[in-house]
Amino acid sequence: MKIRLNRAHFPVTTLGPGRRIGLWVQGCHLNCAGCIARDTWPEDDHRAIEVLDVLDWCRSVAPDGCDGVTISGGEPFEQPTALNALLAALHEWRDELPGCDFDILCYSGFGLEKLDRDHAALLSQLDALIPEPYVHGEAAALWRGSANQPVLPLSALGRKRYARFEGVGPNGKGTLQVSVHDDRVVYIGIPDRGDMHRLEKAARRRGIRLTDVSWRA
Ligand code: SF4
Repeated sequence: MKIRLNRAHFPVTTLGPGRRIGLWVQGCHLNCAGCIARDTWPEDDHRAIEVLDVLDWCRSVAPDGCDGVTISGGEPFEQPTALNALLAALHEWRDELPGCDFDILCYSGFGLEKLDRDHAALLSQLDALIPEPYVHGEAAALWRGSANQPVLPLSALGRKRYARFEGVGPNGKGTLQVSVHDDRVVYIGIPDRGDMHRLEKAARRRGIRLTDVSWRA
């Protein structure tokens, strides 16, 4: 089984608690205004990769200490069969590791009502969920681009890790990690409103022009 994947990164420290594996799926039809990850929109089959290869990569980075896996995108629930295979593989891996309790957090731009109705079996494999579409103009909140997106624990481990963040409202503060891959600069996390524009301007002042940016069509 293959999953379309835009990228993977470790450690991610801005999308969930602790040091995490980050997996961004490829493909999203939700077209949220102001989305900064437009590079993840096309359903590009060239980005399809075997779920077991994804898992091998996860295993290779986890010995450095992994607190969780964050699945984002793109829209993970637009690939329900592949997401199911990925979650099954992650669970199998977690069950193999005595004492290992990494949590699985998934983002979705779909509303909770639709996810509950159409994807209950997938939700039952998650420890936490951050649903609802990104709303441009809403203040940011911890781990979330807009504060309308709740943090929902879905399992006992999820409740242990995420319950205290459930009611955390807007903080208007972005948190970004920066990672450089050859000629690509990757920003991971939640920018504050206008951050990407400010970043481009600051780079330009230093003679650096950012091209093919993911936050513009
Ligand atoms: S914010 Fe997320 S759900 Fe919305 S268009 Fe961008 S990738 Fe898709």
